[in-house]
Amino acid sequence: MRIARVSIPEVAGPVFGVVNGTSIDIIKGHPFSDLEFTGVNLDLEKVKILSPVLPSKIVCVGKNYADHAKELGGEVPAEPVIFIKPSTTVIGENDQIVLPTQSTNVHHEVELAVVISHLCKNVDVSRAGEVILGYTIANDVTARDLQNSDGQWTRAKSFDTFCPIGPWIETELDPTNLDLTCEVNGQVRQSGNTSEMVRTAHEMVAWISTVMTLLPGDVILTGTPAGVGPIVNGDIVEVTISGIGTLSNPVIKK
Ligand code: MG
Repeated sequence: MRIARVSIPEVAGPVFGVVNGTSIDIIKGHPFSDLEFTGVNLDLEKVKILSPVLPSKIVCVGKNYADHAKELGGEVPAEPVIFIKPSTTVIGENDQIVLPTQSTNVHHEVELAVVISHLCKNVDVSRAGEVILGYTIANDVTARDLQNSDGQWTRAKSFDTFCPIGPWIETELDPTNLDLTCEVNGQVRQSGNTSEMVRTAHEMVAWISTVMTLLPGDVILTGTPAGVGPIVNGDIVEVTISGIGTLSNPVIKK
């Protein structure tokens, strides 16, 4: 099942729905409890697709693919390295990634994103699937120059628009063997498979939940494969994961 959050002309404020092919069945309320359909079905072309969730926090795993750790000049860390992107970085399908004036080297990072379904803490890895609503696609946009010069990652990862998420949440998916790619203007920059992850999505949900309480709608970014590189004004960035779809965003410098 594919769950999207959309704005529609008939209703003030966003609504959730289930995407079936080229249309969407609108549900009542939110998708974190049993779904109740409204009976309203709309052509996807007539709605605006928003980010599928508004997370309270986005927890990101650094260096979770060995080839990417290597291209950054490091090894895979013995313990997972995590960081947070603020909720205000989130944008959705077709929204603009705005390049900040403080950076001259902003990079794309395609990542499998986990969407949490339940408030949870200290989740055993064998039960991680029970607190996962589904999976979506994210682009962990990063000001690489500031990541290096600052000595820590908060500013580099936190500019508004630096976390495109979407286009929807796929609820029935095995996260352990998915192809992920990033194309810029139709040219492939990153190509990997989630089987190359050092720690699985379920392992990271369990590990992160030993540190902090996870809330429904929270998003976990599971790391990026090798091939990260710059995006510049006028580019179109497309991040694709098999079984989910493609998330596309234009890049602008204001
Ligand atoms: Mg990343």
